[in-house]
Amino acid sequence: MVRHSSRIELKKSAYKNNITFIRRKIGEHATISSVVKANAYGHGIRTFVPMAEGCGINHFSVASSFEAEEVMDVCSAGSRIMIMGILYEEDIPWAIENGIEFFVYNYERLPKILDAAKIIGKPAKVHVEVETGANRTGLPQKDFLNVLSFLKKHKQHVLFEGLCTHFGGAESVSNQFKIDMQHKRYKAFLKQCREKKILPNTRHIACSAAALAMPDTVYDMVRIGVAQYGFWPSPDIYFSHLHETNKKADSSLKRIFSWRTDIMDIRDVEQGEFIGYGTSFQATHKMTIAVMPLGYSNGYPRALSNRGHVLIHGKKAAIVGLINMNLFMVDITHIKEARLGDEVVLIGRQHTNVINVSSFTNSTQLLNNEMLSRLPAAIPRTVVR
Ligand SMILES: *Cc1c(COP(=O)(O)O)cnc(C)c1O
Repeated sequence: MVRHSSRIELKKSAYKNNITFIRRKIGEHATISSVVKANAYGHGIRTFVPMAEGCGINHFSVASSFEAEEVMDVCSAGSRIMIMGILYEEDIPWAIENGIEFFVYNYERLPKILDAAKIIGKPAKVHVEVETGANRTGLPQKDFLNVLSFLKKHKQHVLFEGLCTHFGGAESVSNQFKIDMQHKRYKAFLKQCREKKILPNTRHIACSAAALAMPDTVYDMVRIGVAQYGFWPSPDIYFSHLHETNKKADSSLKRIFSWRTDIMDIRDVEQGEFIGYGTSFQATHKMTIAVMPLGYSNGYPRALSNRGHVLIHGKKAAIVGLINMNLFMVDITHIKEARLGDEVVLIGRQHTNVINVSSFTNSTQLLNNEMLSRLPAAIPRTVVR
């Protein structure tokens, strides 16, 4: 196999550390569902899922049946998969056949699920997602009693696997009143279940932010995305943790991701010359520049033109000129030891220096999640210790 223009490494020890930290926060009993939508937030489902299993995770949440299939390809037989988002009607039999759990958020779906489950001869595992105030997906209150009656009547074919909801903005303290209202409404749904004497196997509402900062949102399962990858969901959640633990700083969550490439070429540029396309960068003195073999088509944000940095021999090298589709240039005038083929860190640590995803996202106004999840699936991912 020929070599790709960049590579991503996942650090297993850091992941293990993050899971241990999250486990300490949420207590002993709740299941951790690892949210691996968007190609595991760019970390790469195919590499990430087996690594997570090696750290004791055996429940995975995805956004689509397409992603569920990808997880299924690489996960072990004992692991469970839950689709939180799009499952087309034509794929319902496929999900039931493969024991894949899925969200249901309207009543009309249920008879179709029942028919498919009967034909296949296996029960469907549904998580009823209820509307509590995010007004995204979510079953309206007015249909809930009908759903409960249906599930009660057909319980040998359609399992009431979960009752869930999703908070719209749990990472921000300023949304607290809304989150509290959502939780209150969720409790009202649970009360109706008790009154109807039909209970879900699993109650789950917490994402990373809620699980880390609001202990009362931890029921039987938590759906953890961003925190497992080593990112605090927001400064609010980080500071609430510092306050709770009476610390000034905390490095409990560790990034597991690093992104590297190599120097493709080195050349001298005379004073007054322009670098790359256009005239956005003119050499103010005689410079040495290194050429990077990737660009915006490979997930490197174009907004970092003339402002981002990479690491070479542990030193920061500034981007000069525009990020091209498949190339960009950096200034290495001050890094005399740089040679063709030397390692370049795009995100991650090199010697004592580090480039964080957030150092990208601060200047590009992209959220961590957005930048990571846009990294092309074609970049090879490997696990390191
Ligand atoms: C993405 C997502 C999560 C995980 O959110 P994080 O903030 O990354 O932990 C949980 N539940 C649902 C429904 C989601 O879509």
